[in-house]
Amino acid sequence: MSISSLKQLEEHLDLTEDERQWFNTSPRLPLLVSDHVMALMDENDPDDPIRRQFIPDRRENTDDVGDLDPLREEEHSETPRLIHRYHNRAALLTTDRCFSYCRHCFRRRFTSSSSGPISGKQLEEAAAYLGMHGEIREVLLTGGDMFTMSDGQIASMLATLKSTRPDIIYRLCTRAVATFPERFTDKLFETISMYNYGAPYYLMTQFNHPREITEETERIISSFMKLGIPAMNQSVLLKGVNDDVDVLEELSNKLLSARIKPYYLFQGDLVNGTEHLRVHLEDGLELERELRKRLSGLAMPQYTLDLPDGGGKVILTHDHMLGHRDGCWVFESPYGGRRIYPEK
Ligand SMILES: *Cc1c(COP(=O)(O)O)cnc(C)c1O
Ligand code: SF4
Repeated sequence: MSISSLKQLEEHLDLTEDERQWFNTSPRLPLLVSDHVMALMDENDPDDPIRRQFIPDRRENTDDVGDLDPLREEEHSETPRLIHRYHNRAALLTTDRCFSYCRHCFRRRFTSSSSGPISGKQLEEAAAYLGMHGEIREVLLTGGDMFTMSDGQIASMLATLKSTRPDIIYRLCTRAVATFPERFTDKLFETISMYNYGAPYYLMTQFNHPREITEETERIISSFMKLGIPAMNQSVLLKGVNDDVDVLEELSNKLLSARIKPYYLFQGDLVNGTEHLRVHLEDGLELERELRKRLSGLAMPQYTLDLPDGGGKVILTHDHMLGHRDGCWVFESPYGGRRIYPEK
């Protein structure tokens, strides 16, 4: 049983005034917290990092003026469910449902919009588009969370996609490894293995805090690995959750130990309802710089901003290239001093 009402929530937490007031606003994204997520919270700490991610706050619906679709995903939608913004890859909105709703969700214009799982017709439309666009090499199966669909729904989706374009690398994008581990049953892995031919799948997880990585995580990732499916993680930089270099360092190292490669650390998008969770870019850059000193290259995620107005993704990092002089590029060494490298 997941938690979805004020009454159920109050059985677990003493709500703060801001949290209680949320119930008097008109929320776009509903409350939904799985038992697994609730059990990860320290119920006595109002500033708990898991609580910040899943328990809504009045500021979501009152303070923020912003945009519901800063990445201009709707403009780039080629079929009702397929977003084609980058030449060689696309994103398929498989369903609007999730096991728990994250308060920082950047796709809240769609998430929990009652669109439901992709219909047979929508799937055919998306597949027809992929069939005609040979330049697309990767497709993100995203949402919402694709694993909220039943095994049967996942089977028919994979059957259609694989029979149309077996050469595409499909990314299985999910937050459920962190929020609803019991979903990853033997039956689900059997379903995936039936359509495990052609190009490989990649599993894309979202862990934002080290405490979300549990023994269950290792079991699930190992099961994907047995099918030859590698795992990568995308985190979101969130105020009061992981805007701390020790937390980010532990998160990356725990991910690597669980066989998950840290891929992106996203700067918060300018989506309305999320302002109170956004970290200033300058502080994010400072965290990135410090993190790079502490982590191995393998453990280091790319700090990334998806530019407003559909500008695309850019990597944010401290630039060590100072310029060029006398036929040489001049660099600042992270360990101090300068070095040169010839232009030609
Ligand atoms: C982020 C994103 C992708 C994937 O980008 P990568 O940098 O390859 O991970 C694809 N399509 C859309 C619409 C995206 O927002
Ligand atoms: S799991 Fe993803 S789509 Fe669902 S609420 Fe969280 S961020 Fe949004």
